[in-house]
Amino acid sequence: MTTIYRARRIITMNPSRPQATHVAVRDGRVLGVGTLDELAGWGAHTLDERFADKVLLPGFVEGHSHIGEGVYWRWVYCGYHDRTDPDGRVWKGAGSIEAVVERLREAQKRLADPAQPLIGWGFDPIYFGERRCHRSDLDAVSRTRAVAVMHASGHITNANTVALDLVGWMRSGHEHPGIMVDAQGLPTGELKGPDAMMPVLLKVGVDREATAGDEAGVRAFAKLAVRMGVTTATDLATPIPDSAVDALLRITGEAGFSLRLVPAMHVRGQSVEQAIERARHLKSRSTDRLRLGLVKAHADGSIQGFSARMRWPGYYNGAPQGLWYVEPEYLRRVYALALQHGIQMHTHTNGDEAIDLAIDCLQDALRQHPSPDHRFTLQHCQLADRAQLRRMKSLGMCANFFANHHFHWGDAHYGMTVGPDRAERMNPCASALELGVPFTIHSDAPVTPLGPLHVAWCAVNRLTPSGRVLGEHERIGVPDALRAVTLGAAYTLQLDGEIGSIETGKRADFAVLEDDPLEVAPHALKDVRVWGVVAGGVPVAAGG
Ligand SMILES: [Zn+2]
Repeated sequence: MTTIYRARRIITMNPSRPQATHVAVRDGRVLGVGTLDELAGWGAHTLDERFADKVLLPGFVEGHSHIGEGVYWRWVYCGYHDRTDPDGRVWKGAGSIEAVVERLREAQKRLADPAQPLIGWGFDPIYFGERRCHRSDLDAVSRTRAVAVMHASGHITNANTVALDLVGWMRSGHEHPGIMVDAQGLPTGELKGPDAMMPVLLKVGVDREATAGDEAGVRAFAKLAVRMGVTTATDLATPIPDSAVDALLRITGEAGFSLRLVPAMHVRGQSVEQAIERARHLKSRSTDRLRLGLVKAHADGSIQGFSARMRWPGYYNGAPQGLWYVEPEYLRRVYALALQHGIQMHTHTNGDEAIDLAIDCLQDALRQHPSPDHRFTLQHCQLADRAQLRRMKSLGMCANFFANHHFHWGDAHYGMTVGPDRAERMNPCASALELGVPFTIHSDAPVTPLGPLHVAWCAVNRLTPSGRVLGEHERIGVPDALRAVTLGAAYTLQLDGEIGSIETGKRADFAVLEDDPLEVAPHALKDVRVWGVVAGGVPVAAGG
């Protein structure tokens, strides 16, 4: 059974035949791309004209997201920017700490059980200047119910007094660098990094083990993916217990399920040997729609949370050095064992010192286990300078830049975190292109909203919230940005032989667009409307 889809334009990402008007699909795969006459040579077919006025691209590949984007909507959205939920409803941003408190108070009225914790997400106090959220702010929401608010970055959580009491932390004498204390020596309620956040989050019911295979969350995430033209998305850091693997295999195995999921197992809590052994086991359970075996490690924290590891001269505003999330020695050993067993590592590195560590570790590991085409990928890799990019190129590393940062935190980076010149070099897409480092760009949803066209728009325009072009020399063109969110991302996931372009033999995964991204003005790229996707040859409309 062959279907030939006619489109206004098909942008293939295959340089041998970059554009066409028709694509033939058989058994969920691309049979051929060309004119109707050329494709008719394959024999009997059905001509499907429903996309005659639409533009097809390869289905977008989100190289760094989390299914939390589907899970978090059951909690209270506390972000600064307006945001669309999986059902298409737009939630207004909250413009001050007071507005966040008010929103939490309102939400609390809908909780019947007075002991049920209240959870917020997407909080972004960097927009509110020097004012930090204190536990007393959240005590104003409730003095009887635990309240925890996760920051947009995912690297900081604010807790009220009841929540701190749940873990026995309402006392002085804290020495952990992630537990902020006030003049009285009591916790302010601001908790930085996993060691400080996790105990409280677990108590209030944010349990990453439990949500790793959360059915409603995965379905909501898949729904949102269709809305954004995404046909393959990562869940880039999950504990992925066996129960989650079973659930994900079942859900992604359903005939109508439209998203290919690529979870990466986090190394946290495992010895190096356990982690790689488990990754090998997971890899053996992979299917077409559920790709297992990737491993994720975190080297440091976040730049806007001042927990990223910075080289000299450190933070522009004098904030103290950030945190290591992993023992440097652990990273060295896990890289070596991963290379030995053909396991691919994705490493969170925000600050330039963290990037140095990852490059050094890989260089050491490669001496022990020479491994061509390992594609170890630095995630975020925001502050890489050109010398680091040259080393990455020579070692065969890939980068996944966090292009959305310019739009979300660019002004803060310019004026507060890293200062003007390093802010302009952040997420250096043009340098990576020039130096030949394979790269993609990402949203890190739910840190910023899922949406590859918006991510591409960020890399093309590099506009901050105030309208500043931050790093005009690192801007890239629309075709390069579109390539980054399709074939570029597929390459970093070692899936570029199967997805990322529309060409014979590949999966028939398409993003279906109402407007032509190569025809609209570059500053309008984010406004290109998405009809939905074709996943494995099956059309799925957004909201359908
Ligand atoms: Zn992430």
